[in-house]
Amino acid sequence: MDLYSEQVNHLVEELGRLPGIGTKSAQRLAYHIINMPHDQVKSLSDSIITAKENVRYCKECYTLTDKEVCPICTSTKRDKKIIMVVETPRDLAAYERTGKYTGVYHVLHGAISPKLGIGQDDIKLKELIIRLREDVEELIVATNSGVEGEITAMYISKLVKPTGIKVSRIASGIPVGGDLECIDEVTLLRALEGRVDL
Ligand code: ZN
Repeated sequence: MDLYSEQVNHLVEELGRLPGIGTKSAQRLAYHIINMPHDQVKSLSDSIITAKENVRYCKECYTLTDKEVCPICTSTKRDKKIIMVVETPRDLAAYERTGKYTGVYHVLHGAISPKLGIGQDDIKLKELIIRLREDVEELIVATNSGVEGEITAMYISKLVKPTGIKVSRIASGIPVGGDLECIDEVTLLRALEGRVDL
């Protein structure tokens, strides 16, 4: 095999490791990248490395940020007594787009899944419980509407109930695997407003 195709194969292999990218997509992306102008390719690879080196978890809510504490947690306009629990930073972004939620968040980075062997210690639950020692009035559980999201919601409810803090669950949240770009703000707002006590 010649060197050229070796290197293309390597690029296809690396791209194929990304979630949701099958071999065909990886090949398509690889050939696209090879045909891109050199400065665009450099900008793409630089942005990957810069993001990896600088992005970390917010010390308070665990979303991704390039600062110690994220802009939502630092904002004086946000009500820190209301915490919305979401599975991923993408979920947070979807609720932020509604522009109507004024509380803060807690990002779990996953959900409890007996099937996948993900337990309560594998997501940011301990960190959530520590936050509840502060002055918190309501916890809105906005985990996804699949089995894992429901198990996680029940687990959180059981854990938090004894503290006397109000725990609610959004009416119906982000469906599992749902494309967040396609979920409209009205649906999310309705889910938030229609939340029920757990
Ligand atoms: Zn934060």
